[in-house]
Amino acid sequence: MSARIRAVIRTAAIVLVVLALPLAAWAFVKPVRVLAPGLEGVTCESLVCVDDPARRAEAVALYRDAVRFVQTSVDAMRTEPRAIFCSTHACSEKFGLNRRNAFTVGTFALVIGDRGWKPYYVRHELIHVLQNERLGSIRNSFFKPVWFREGMAYSLSEDPRRPLPEPLQGYRSRFEDWVKQIGLANLWVEAEKL
Ligand SMILES: [Zn+2]
Repeated sequence: MSARIRAVIRTAAIVLVVLALPLAAWAFVKPVRVLAPGLEGVTCESLVCVDDPARRAEAVALYRDAVRFVQTSVDAMRTEPRAIFCSTHACSEKFGLNRRNAFTVGTFALVIGDRGWKPYYVRHELIHVLQNERLGSIRNSFFKPVWFREGMAYSLSEDPRRPLPEPLQGYRSRFEDWVKQIGLANLWVEAEKL
């Protein structure tokens, strides 16, 4: 191999690494925190972690009901993520929720903030876990259209807010039109093509 070709390959490799780093950091910094929740003042029993032990039963019920809902009305989940329920704003901030009510980390975990203790929020995040499981976390988060990702989560979680604030309402309507055309049974096959 000539020195010139080697140099081109090296440059290409560096460019790829530089491009991939922010994605990798985004994808893996948060899980480190979420996978070590003991450090953040929450206590875990099996998959459910809480900052306020007095609300453990409520958190467990929300999580179990949401898993059952997604399994039966959306699709079978192969993984059950850890779920962290924050009762206080301080806990939510520590996990990086900022203004969001909840978020999902790959297929590892979901974090429910102090304003997110609602059945449809937990179902919404579990639908993101399912998307990450079926489509890959990086592909789903960065390469699938937002109307699909968020529209599906708002629609199939049966979020009762109608209309949602824009642009979320638009995402949900677009998803609902799309799924009506393709049929729910073909969702993953068709999502591959998006
Ligand atoms: Zn979402």
